[in-house]
Amino acid sequence: MMQLPCPWCGDRDENEFLCGGTTHLSRPDLQSSDGAWGQYLFFRDNPKGAHLERWRHTYGCGRWFNIARHTVTHEILAVYAIDGTPPAAVVNGAP
Ligand SMILES: [Zn+2]
Repeated sequence: MMQLPCPWCGDRDENEFLCGGTTHLSRPDLQSSDGAWGQYLFFRDNPKGAHLERWRHTYGCGRWFNIARHTVTHEILAVYAIDGTPPAAVVNGAP
């Protein structure tokens, strides 16, 4: 089972968490086209490598945070605040 590092509680089993999906998405303006809304609602990148995700420690402290996770190895590359920015090393070419 994958272990996730909650910034407040430490390493815990994956089943204590809820994945909120891709993080850093921007909701389109209300006047945007149906195509823009469709893109926002139904399409996500599926990278092989670093993926930026938001997680909630549902069965723990209940707090949200962001992680950068490698989609092949599940290695946690970075943990950062829900309103934070990912480390530049992750964005610019993590393994
Ligand atoms: Zn926690």
